[in-house]
Amino acid sequence: MLDHDLHCHSNVSDGTLTPTELVERAAGRGVKMLALTDHDDVNGLDEARAAAARHGMDFVNGVEISVSWRSHTLHVVGLAIDPLYPPLVQGLQGLRSGRGERAQKMADELAKAGIGGTLQGAYRYAANPNIIGRTHFARYLVEAGHCKDVKSVFNRYLAKGKPGYVPHEWASLPDAISWIRGSGGIAVLAHPGRYMVGRHSMGKKTMRELLVEFVECGGQALEVVTGSHTQEQYAEFARYAEEFGLLCSCGSDFHSPNESYRDMGRLPDLPLSCRPVWENWATAAPSPILKVA
Ligand code: AMP
Ligand code: MN
Ligand code: MN
Ligand code: MN
Repeated sequence: MLDHDLHCHSNVSDGTLTPTELVERAAGRGVKMLALTDHDDVNGLDEARAAAARHGMDFVNGVEISVSWRSHTLHVVGLAIDPLYPPLVQGLQGLRSGRGERAQKMADELAKAGIGGTLQGAYRYAANPNIIGRTHFARYLVEAGHCKDVKSVFNRYLAKGKPGYVPHEWASLPDAISWIRGSGGIAVLAHPGRYMVGRHSMGKKTMRELLVEFVECGGQALEVVTGSHTQEQYAEFARYAEEFGLLCSCGSDFHSPNESYRDMGRLPDLPLSCRPVWENWATAAPSPILKVA
């Protein structure tokens, strides 16, 4: 079992636990190195880092940046970022500022589909209203009895092509990677397997084109082990990582005790061919692993 978890969410984005509660849960489940990677926001890092220090856990500053690439929405995780790097701060601010308007449009679309009251309902689930997103809508739709769980809400209403889906322009791939790299961080293509399932997914040819572009832009790692990948996908993306010279990362993508495919501290080890993204972190200067004095 792997004791590194480099992808998870607090209620600063669409998780349900506070950064402190999240770290406590991770510690209780044997995680020794944690990165908090909230969507488009770094505001939970100070609290999480302090909590990690209390538990003697290694902590890595992280973020998960929303990206539009061709017709696809991708997520790029930044690890060991400097959350104060001005272009990163401004870039994330820009991403957050579009979310309110998008939420309004989503509520309008859902109203046309006969479901009212979703904007207020969703905001009730957003501890940080700046990051209002689909998961908050999904939680409200479950509460209101429209679906049995969050996953079903996505399948029925919020995934691409469904009545409540609103297209949105996120960061460009080169911008997201340059904010991360410019801040001293490592750019990781998150949960690549997720881009290859479903009606609007990319095929193998497009995945290769994406990986070529990702590397050209300065991307350094691929998330091989993640809560949404199958065993076969661990092996498949380990092969892609080898072929494209990418480091490998892993993380649960934990959001909530009730919703996750995989809980923290319950992921298998990276495949043997993988070079872990944390390979040289113990000796790197400045250290990507943060302690609070
Ligand atoms: P947003 O950034 O507002 O578009 O929301 C994206 C988030 O929605 C992801 O980070 C996941 O937490 C969640 N999500 C996306 N697709 C699904 C799905 N099929 N089932 C459950 N949650 C999903
Ligand atoms: Mn999420
Ligand atoms: Mn993601
Ligand atoms: Mn995530």
